[in-house]
Amino acid sequence: MTVVVFHGGAIRIDGVGPDADRLVVVDGIVAAADHPVPADAEIVDLAGGMLLPAFRDGHAHPLLAGRETSGPALRDAASVDEIVARVRDWAVASDEPWLIGGSYDATIVDGGVFDARWLDEAVADRPVVLHAWDYHTAWVNTAALEAAGLDADTPDPALGRILRRPDGSPRGTLVERPAIDLVLNRAPRSSVAADVEALAWATDRLAAEGISWVQEAWTEEHDVPSWIAAARAGRLAVDVDLALRADPTLWPEQLPHLRRIARAVNLEPGLTCRTVKFFVDGILENRTAHLLECYHDAQTRGLPNWQPDQLVDAVAACDAAGFDVHLHAIGDAAVRAAIDAAEGIRESLRAGRRLTIAHAQVIDPADLPRLAELDVTFCFQPQWATTDAVMTDLTLPRLGPGRERQYRMHSAQKAGARLSFGSDWPVTSPEVLAGIRTAVTRQDADGVPSGGWQPDERLTLDEALDAATLGVAHQAGDQDDRGTLRPGMVADLVWLDRDIRRAPASRIGDARVLGTWRRGIRTFSAVPATAVL
Ligand SMILES: [Zn+2]
Repeated sequence: MTVVVFHGGAIRIDGVGPDADRLVVVDGIVAAADHPVPADAEIVDLAGGMLLPAFRDGHAHPLLAGRETSGPALRDAASVDEIVARVRDWAVASDEPWLIGGSYDATIVDGGVFDARWLDEAVADRPVVLHAWDYHTAWVNTAALEAAGLDADTPDPALGRILRRPDGSPRGTLVERPAIDLVLNRAPRSSVAADVEALAWATDRLAAEGISWVQEAWTEEHDVPSWIAAARAGRLAVDVDLALRADPTLWPEQLPHLRRIARAVNLEPGLTCRTVKFFVDGILENRTAHLLECYHDAQTRGLPNWQPDQLVDAVAACDAAGFDVHLHAIGDAAVRAAIDAAEGIRESLRAGRRLTIAHAQVIDPADLPRLAELDVTFCFQPQWATTDAVMTDLTLPRLGPGRERQYRMHSAQKAGARLSFGSDWPVTSPEVLAGIRTAVTRQDADGVPSGGWQPDERLTLDEALDAATLGVAHQAGDQDDRGTLRPGMVADLVWLDRDIRRAPASRIGDARVLGTWRRGIRTFSAVPATAVL
């Protein structure tokens, strides 16, 4: 029997009852507070900090984040020249036949349109593919366009766009997966061995943020062997659920295949595959999100990937096959389609099945009252709820006046939705505390904008903590053994260096994670774990 006793700090059990001053963990399970402590118990002195249920990331892409480490960091590059210089250095150092990297900040160029010729200056002899920070857009060089045979005669694929020069030839920016895959399908896939290293790095990083579980929010079949290999090698520092992507062009024949993949994954330790992911639409910044009314700056309502009826049927089929459903929905038309799909499986939701609407950037006010009757989780990315460059330069000009309200966390919760948080890493950083700060303040790390952006959508700190812990446990159907520290719960824990409830909200992001435990076993340590009483 392994006994660990935590004391010397504030222990948040569940956000409802009072804090505890001691937590006893026996063989990875929270025990009653008066459980006898044997002489050989491990004692952890919290040193005035705070212990709470480990954070859970309801929507992230650790494999994409890990793969980014094989190339240069580009996110902080403030100009095209800077990116080109870093790619040039990379090409000199690498003998890979294709250079596939990212992600870059698309706001540094007007409208986010990047030109193949700029990259040709760095690398002309082999293909280069760079992902934009949204992973819905890619910038490629001329060698990549040629390798894929893309020219003025190539039509846009269904559900994707090839941005073009006036003469019709491809410019070098590809929008949405079907267009990006025209190029990437010609490239060699990354090896399982390289992916295992990427996953080990990425899940260590998540554990360092206090995270014990993550919803991997977009898994392609060809990535599954890498996940299984990493799990078998004991290299995953967080528990992971994979969401297999439903493909509108392969559906419904795809479903039996997804079931076979899931059955194989579910045999692995710390790894499950309980979820199917739908990209209902794209993103606002490149006008692929699906809106009820036209974009302010273009005569289009966007690019829905699924027709509404098709989506309702596909979600019902996934539900009947035993899958939970995770729906990427950004525009108000996509969010409405997602809620329609939830209504289609209402009885199943009542019986405990899970449907999650991720992002929910624009919600039509008429759809909010519908949430009261549905057990639906809205997985928000709290770091997005502020006026950063993406919001001011790319998002708000697309939406136009009268439609600015976004990431309506408070409204959705008040209307009856459950809330969970996800980082969408590597789109944004996996720092949970930065997300909690923004959810509570609607400000960035520098306190901008003053007074908070759309401040009536702020959450209380307790609501935000619940969204990052119990809300994600609900999203996964794990709420009976994860997400609180009541006796009998699994000891997934995070130790912070201070009680963030006593700090000013603007300083929540300054707190440090000192330790993370998954199932009672330490997965991250910033200071020596044990002190003697
Ligand atoms: Zn995502």
